[in-house]
Order: sequence, then structure tokens, then C-alpha cells
Amino acid sequence: MPKIAQKRLPEPKIRKSLLDKDFGHQKARRSNFEAIYTTFALNFGGLALIRGCHGIRSGVFDFDPARPRIYNLRVMNTLLLLTFAGPSGLPSLEEVRAMDEKLRLAERWGIMALDTTPPVLPWDILHYGITLTVDTVGDSIASGRCEVEFQLLDDTASLWLNFVDSMSATPYLGLTVDSVLLDGAVATWFFSGSDTGRILNIQVPGGVSGQIDTALVFYHGEPTHPSGIISSGGLTIGDTICYTDDQPWGARHWFPCVDIPSEKATSEVTATVPAGWRVVSNGVLADSVHNPSWWTYHWVNDYQIASYLVAFAAYDFAILRDTFIFSGDTVPIYHFVSHADSANAELDYKLLPKAMEGYSTLYGIYPFMDQKYSQVQIDKLGGAMENQTNTFTGFGIYGDSTYTIWVQAHELSHQWWGDYVTCGTWPDIWLNEGFATFSEAVWWGWFLGPSMYQYWIDSVRMAIYLEYQTWPPIPIYNPGQSLEELFSVETYDKAGCVLHSLRKVTEYLLGGDTLAFWAALRYYKDNHAQSYALTKDFTQEYAAFTGLTLDWFFGEWLYKPGYPKYQVIWSKDSLGAGLWQVNITINQTQSHNYGVPYFKMPVPLQLMGGCDTTVIAWDSLDTQNFSFTVSGKPNILRFDPENWIIDEHTVHTGVIETPSHVTETRLLSLGPVPARDMFRVEYLAPEGLRAELSLYGVDGRLVGREKSTTANGLNVIGVNLACLPQGLYFTEFRVDGKRLFATKVVKQ
Ligand SMILES: [Zn+2]
Repeated sequence: MPKIAQKRLPEPKIRKSLLDKDFGHQKARRSNFEAIYTTFALNFGGLALIRGCHGIRSGVFDFDPARPRIYNLRVMNTLLLLTFAGPSGLPSLEEVRAMDEKLRLAERWGIMALDTTPPVLPWDILHYGITLTVDTVGDSIASGRCEVEFQLLDDTASLWLNFVDSMSATPYLGLTVDSVLLDGAVATWFFSGSDTGRILNIQVPGGVSGQIDTALVFYHGEPTHPSGIISSGGLTIGDTICYTDDQPWGARHWFPCVDIPSEKATSEVTATVPAGWRVVSNGVLADSVHNPSWWTYHWVNDYQIASYLVAFAAYDFAILRDTFIFSGDTVPIYHFVSHADSANAELDYKLLPKAMEGYSTLYGIYPFMDQKYSQVQIDKLGGAMENQTNTFTGFGIYGDSTYTIWVQAHELSHQWWGDYVTCGTWPDIWLNEGFATFSEAVWWGWFLGPSMYQYWIDSVRMAIYLEYQTWPPIPIYNPGQSLEELFSVETYDKAGCVLHSLRKVTEYLLGGDTLAFWAALRYYKDNHAQSYALTKDFTQEYAAFTGLTLDWFFGEWLYKPGYPKYQVIWSKDSLGAGLWQVNITINQTQSHNYGVPYFKMPVPLQLMGGCDTTVIAWDSLDTQNFSFTVSGKPNILRFDPENWIIDEHTVHTGVIETPSHVTETRLLSLGPVPARDMFRVEYLAPEGLRAELSLYGVDGRLVGREKSTTANGLNVIGVNLACLPQGLYFTEFRVDGKRLFATKVVKQ
């Protein structure tokens, strides 16, 4: 473990850096321009780190795809069709009517892909070959060409591509299709739909199942940007930089494609840019041409890729080189950064190979070993995006990898979870984001050990508590139709914690087998290599691989909203000979609004004091009683110390013994966890002792202390957290200088 001096960061810099895209979308459910940002700086072996949770933006999600208004707009009608028909000829009205139903479907998935099953398409896209000449003065594509190779899976006469042209909602701005060829001959084509649901229809006369065709679309113009996306999605062309940002539906704003996550193809990007600019894209650099005015770069990707992961960026980059070696195999790493930041970037990015090692060990080797991995600094992105082999990051560069390595790790993990295996529909987005959030903790565990893994899981839970103060709970799977629901705390943080739960529950059910969880993840990944997966694929394959029946677990945690709120009451009776019977009542007190269920979970209860034993209570009802026999007298019950469960809880001693003359100090209860205003301790003590309840920040700074002199019998002491920022704290309770306990407290 390296010893790194703890540092403090200038706060405004951090705030800015945390307004990222990957972590920004989810925050939009919150109100106003509030910057909920949480700094967790923990002196763990001397390391300071920050998990920043999430900038918040509001008012940017004015495009709510669920609104009927939008849907009505994209219902194709003949007038629209005639108006927007291309120059190469029109289909007959009969043909239009025959296509109408299918086109409606196409426009529906074209817009949102929010259906929970991928559409069955009559063709398979094999390859996209995109060739662009960028006009950085005119902020436009001077000339564009996209070659779409496809194979018919059915007898069909049309190919439909998502492509937002200038005839959509914003006239005079946008791309213009100049011509379309099919297998080298002039094709019949027309547009239908509007806005994001714009569809380029290319006729494939007499198309027969099995045949392979190539459509070639020529276009030019200034690309529009998708509505409702944080930062300007699609292709941004500026005087000094040009970059794409495609998730979830920016790709159709710069190249014609089947813009749904389940449709994958190979890809090529050839971009011509001003001399001095370098271009980075997916896959490997095949060749480049430098002439006095223009440089051209040709990147080739022969892995299957979803349209939203096709990306390129160009500017006057400095390129830092690194290497990842694993099991005798080697892959190059390139960091494309500004010249001004290149020295600091070298320090910022130095831990990346270590993260690749961790993930390769646990998830299987980096999926694109025969290509490369790049991190590309795009300051204007306002976030980070896991383009395949080609992550774009808008995070600041600080000259110290400990500040952003968790973001690098998050995006890197998407190469396995999101890129190599892609969520089949957007309602399955937690298969990308939950896995990547969980992977942040996995990274820390790999680098610094189990305590750091646990710390990160605990801090991720914070975001859930914060969210639930304001917003009603939504399920992880299929959380809703808006962007803010799709990219929500549920699909990131809660799903990440559910994977931690799954890991711990699996270990428990398999008698301590710590390897099965990782093997099951690899099995699931291998089943969907270079393809897509649905939530039910994951749940079924995980259960099948481990041999566990887990319908109950996935049912309540993925498909239902909320989490349990436990009230725990316990007491103990001496059985003689050093044995004690512990009686525990667990009440689930959560509201069942919005369909929040009672949760069935194995609840770990650690009994400490004269013993140190962890017992498991299988709890599933509103009220349940448990009893255990332990050796040694327990004085403290710690509820779920490893946070298997996303929950809130309070622990009480059931029988308050107030003997007339108390001779020893004894803890009765502490809580609640998490705490909003007051963290309270109840205890028994003799008269006249000094009691002291202290509260520390994660940096070790004292932030609160309450002192009192004990009375004989029952005593209560509390420390006020109401004015403190949300986050993680440590509390210690001493009576007459003797520590009774020290534990974590989460301020909600
Ligand atoms: Zn992510």
C-alpha cells in the first residue's frame, strides 16, 4: 500500500469536476441547481480520496420522451412523407400504407428504444464505415459519407436508419442528405418521422432474406444536437476541438445508423481535420495521411459495437503512452490530453494499468486486448463517457491519480459492462451503470484491500439516502421513461449496492465460497460477448451458474422500489454455564407506497461484548422474532456490519434494566443509522462518571462533542448532526475515559 500524504483540494475545482455526465444525469431528479456534492476524504493508510457524488442540473430535461406530445409528433402521415420525400422518387401511397405499421414501430424504437424487449428487425447491420471532412470554421461536416453494410434476415424491401437531418424540427440547421446509393446504384429513399424519431428509409427492391447489401449515404451540414441531454450530445465541431457524445441517442445526429443498444456492427471512422489536429476513435489506427492543410486519420474497429459507443475526437492533442500486460498479453494505452496538462496527466493516469489488472483478474481479461484503451481529455464534455476502447473524460487533471482514479476505474469497467456486453434496452441500463458503480468499490478493494471496498460501498449508499429524502423510490429495472429516471441513483448507486448485496448473499448461501460470484459474472459476460444482455439474462444465468434460487432476491431488489427500514429490539437471558439466549425482534417499518415490499433477506447481527458472534436472521415479514444461543455475554448488537442490505435501522434493547443501584456501565442502544439530526446513545451507569460522546469527520477532525455526568441508572446522551454536511462520520463514546464503542455514522 503506498503511503501518500493526505491533501486537500481546492473546493471549487472539485465541484466543477463533479458535474460529470456519467454521474450527472442521475441528479436531475433533484431540485434546482443545487450542487449536492459530498467529499469523503478518508485517511486510509494516509490516502485522501474523493468520491464526489454528482452535480445536479435541472431544467435540461425538458424533453420528456414519455409525453404523448412527442409521440404524436412522430406518427407518420402521408403529408409528412410527401413533404419530406427525397429527390430520388416517392413510394406509392399503397406502399406507404403497407409500411405504415412497421414504420410506426421503427420510429418508436428509433426515438427511445424504451421498450423492454429489443425489436425484431428484418436485417442485421454488419458494418458502418463513416468518412467525414470537418469544417471547423463553419462548425459543420463539409462532406460526410456513411457506408452501411447489412444482411437481410427476412424478405423485405426497406432499410430504416435513424438519422436526424435538416428537415426535422429545426429548419435550416442540420444535415442534408445529398444522395444515397444501394450497391453502387442510385437508390430510392425518403425521410419520415420528426425530431429524434427521424428515419431515413432506403428502398431495397426485391430484397430476399440472406442477401447482403451496402447503402452509401452522402451528406453534409451542421449537425443538430439531441434534446434534453446534459452537454451538447451528438457531434460538436468547434474552432479548437471536435468530439462526439452519443449516449443515449446522439449517434443519429452525425451518422445514419440503427440507433438502439441491441444492434451491433463493426465500425470504421475516417476523419479529415485541420493539420496539427490528431483524431482518436474506436479500435486501432489503420493509417493516417498528413498534407500541409489537412490531416486524415483512419480508425478501424473489428469488434461489434453499439451505435452509441461509436465516437471520435480531434484536436491538437499530446499523446501519452502506457502499456498493460496481462498473462503475457500486451495492449497499448494512450492518453490524449492537452499539451498544457500532459505532465499532470501522466501522474493522474498512472494507476490505470493497476485497475486493468484488477478487472482482468476478476472479470476476465480486458476485452479489447488486440486493440487499445484510450482516455481522451474533453474538458467541455462536462462528464465522462465510456466509448468503446475510447473513454472521453471531462474531469479535471490534478497531477494526482487518487482524485480521479475512481472515475477512470468506473469508465474502464464499462469496457466489460456496457461495451463488450451492452444493455439490450435502455430499461436495462443498470447492467451498465450499476456494474460500473459497483466496480468503483471493486477497484478500491483490489488496490487497497477490503476496508476500502467496504468504505466505498458505504459512501455509495449515501447517494441513495439523499435521493430518498426528496424523490419517491423507483425500481432499478425499467425505472421510467425519462432520462433522469434512466440515469438515476437507482440505476447507478442502488444497483451498485445491490451487486454488493448479491455478492454477500451468494457467499453466505454457498457456505463462504468467495469465488462463485466472480465466476458467475464471467459466465454471464462470456454468454453475451460482443452482444447485448437483458436483465432476465443476467438473473437467470447468475442463478443457473451458482445453482441458487434467487428469484426472491432479484424480484424485490431489481423489480420493486425502495428498501427496508428495520426496527430491531433485543434482549438476553443467562442460561448458565456461560451461555446466553439472545431474543431479537425485527420490525420492517417502511411505507409500502409506490409498491415498496417487505424485504426477505438474511440479516447479519453481530453480538459483541463477552462474545463476538455473528448470527443470521432470515427476515421477511413486518414483525419477526428470532432467538439464538451464544457463548459469552453479549453487550452490543451491531446490525449488518458489512452493509449487506440497503436499509435504515435503529437498534433498541428490549428490557431496560434499571436496578436501584447500578454498579457497571452498560450500553443499551445507539442510533439511528443513518442519522438525520441526532445520534443518541442509551446506557446504564453508576452515578458521577464523566461521559463523553465525540463525533469526528473522516479526516479525523473533531466536529462535535457532548459531555455529561452520569446519573445512577438509565442515561441518554446525544450529539447533534443537524448542521453538519451529509456524509460519513465516526463516533466514539467514553465513560470515565474508557471507550464503550466507536463506530461509523452516516449523516443523511
Ligand atoms: Zn457509467
